[in-house]
Amino acid sequence: MTTAGKRRLVVVAWLCLASASATVPGLTACARNGDHGPGREGNSMAAEFARRRQTMVDRQIKARGIRDPLVLEAMRSVPRHEFVPESIWHDAYEDHPLPIGKGQTISQPYIVALMTEALALHGGERVLELGTGSGYQAAVLACIADSVYTIEYFPELAADAANDLRRCGYGNVVTRAGDGWLGWPEQAPFDAAIVTFAAPEVPPALVEQLVVGGRLCIPVGTPGGVQKLMVYTKQDRGEPVAEFLCAVRFVPVQGEGAGR
Ligand code: SAH
Repeated sequence: MTTAGKRRLVVVAWLCLASASATVPGLTACARNGDHGPGREGNSMAAEFARRRQTMVDRQIKARGIRDPLVLEAMRSVPRHEFVPESIWHDAYEDHPLPIGKGQTISQPYIVALMTEALALHGGERVLELGTGSGYQAAVLACIADSVYTIEYFPELAADAANDLRRCGYGNVVTRAGDGWLGWPEQAPFDAAIVTFAAPEVPPALVEQLVVGGRLCIPVGTPGGVQKLMVYTKQDRGEPVAEFLCAVRFVPVQGEGAGR
């Protein structure tokens, strides 16, 4: 490999690792939800946040190879600052994760885009998310999919996320507080699933609850260490086909999965 090639590889690996998980009412309307509801900021701030979102998409997301137009539009439209405390709004569109309380984080924007693109959504899908956190990833998914079912372990975070999602107009997101390790059998099957905490293994229930051809994006590996961000595609028979995306560092699983 050429020196330039090696340098590029190092930069990409660093970006992925640095991307550890956990992240204006927007002027751009969400593709599916239309204009989101009333924001907490004034009009001039809204315009400034919209400008920052455009810069975020150009410099952090497109520049690193995300090409799916539905993902790019969703990242341009979701008001990320509405999902974090007002005290850190100034950082809402920066290139790193952000704290959301309970020791949890909202993922770096690039990782949200990468995981969303890995699900290969076209619109019309039912998506399951484990780890609602702030609700931001759910809002991005909700811009593209028909409906999003999302589960959060900490009831306080689940309540805040449900509020923010409602206020911002993401009416196609259904939230639930609880341990998501066993998925959401009452709402299965899902066309896609996403896990936004470090899982020591792939929760078997998640694969069972996917349709054939459905995709699951999940960081697998030692909680507290480095994980492999994987995307699995369910097959008619046999093991799901696995693809490695990059190395990441996500917050650890809580509840039943932690004992694995
Ligand atoms: N998708 C989130 C990222 C949140 S970080 C966002 O966009 O903000 C991961 C979240 O997973 C944390 O809020 C954590 O509490 C939650 N979590 C961890 N283990 C869980 C479990 N077993 N079931 C549901 N949620 C879990």
